[in-house]
Amino acid sequence: MKTVTLRNGTTVPALGMGTWNVGDSADRRALEIESLRTGLEAGLRVIDTAEMYGNGRSEKLVGEAIADVRDDVYLVSKVLPSNASYDGVRRACRRSLDRLDTDWLDMYLLHWRGGTPLEETIRAFEDLQTDGLIRGWGVSNFDVDDMEEIEVLSGACQVNQVLYSLEHRGTEFDLLDHDLSTGTVTMAYSPLGQGGDLLQHPALAEIAGRHETSAGPADPAQIALAWVMRRENVMAIPKAGSPKHLLSNVASLEISLTEEDLKVLDHAFPPPQRKVSLAMI
Ligand code: NAP
Repeated sequence: MKTVTLRNGTTVPALGMGTWNVGDSADRRALEIESLRTGLEAGLRVIDTAEMYGNGRSEKLVGEAIADVRDDVYLVSKVLPSNASYDGVRRACRRSLDRLDTDWLDMYLLHWRGGTPLEETIRAFEDLQTDGLIRGWGVSNFDVDDMEEIEVLSGACQVNQVLYSLEHRGTEFDLLDHDLSTGTVTMAYSPLGQGGDLLQHPALAEIAGRHETSAGPADPAQIALAWVMRRENVMAIPKAGSPKHLLSNVASLEISLTEEDLKVLDHAFPPPQRKVSLAMI
């Protein structure tokens, strides 16, 4: 299985599981839990959640899903910028731990940059780590200039979680290489374009037609994921609400795109020719 290695030496599979909008519907709840369990059984480890998702409902569902397998999970959550003061981070972390029903987070991210000085948020992260409540910290939606500021303040930022998909390639201009140069893993969110138009693009269907996986003929979603994960130091965290989608996403790890495939995709989704501001959802 393709992996990425964090600058603290921890190695995790390059495919993780997102959980935005998970836990919002009583009807879907059992299937969503089964989906996360299926992923863990298939060898995935990273589960991404946030205090923001469903006002804690996502964290609650994740906590329920992993209760008896906590040690097998690399658990990521995020603090809102409105809670990013020193005391705010510490309180938010404890609330997240309560909802997740766990004693620690493997990774705690600042969801996006707000008005709190970065030094203050980092100090809270460091103290949470010293106290054993988190095992690492990072950021989300940070562009190169923000990452440069972080590097001046600390050499311990493990992850930058950003929007990256065929539809949003702006980060290829400089951010992905910058993260690689510092050893900060890029976690690509919304790699499936949130299940929208991206998956209907004929270029993805064309390339899917050339690939097979052990689960059967490839499909556009698998091509979109294989494309994101083709890059060193980049992992993808698609959200799958069913075991069927989850297993299909796992099978994307078997796909190696050819030079010809990449050319077709570059034609359909041109790479950036200049710096563009970091897009976020
Ligand atoms: P996404 O993963 O790009 O897309 C999720 C959609 O794709 C869902 O509608 C899902 O449908 C569908 N899907 C999943 N697997 C599929 C498959 N094999 N075939 C066809 N459709 C499939 O979008 P996302 O949820 O926005 O992003 C992923 C995760 O990134 C989030 O859940 C969250 O954890 C994180 N995120 C972070 C930020 C941030 O600011 N840091 C922002 C956005 C997202 P089903 O549910 O029916 O499976």
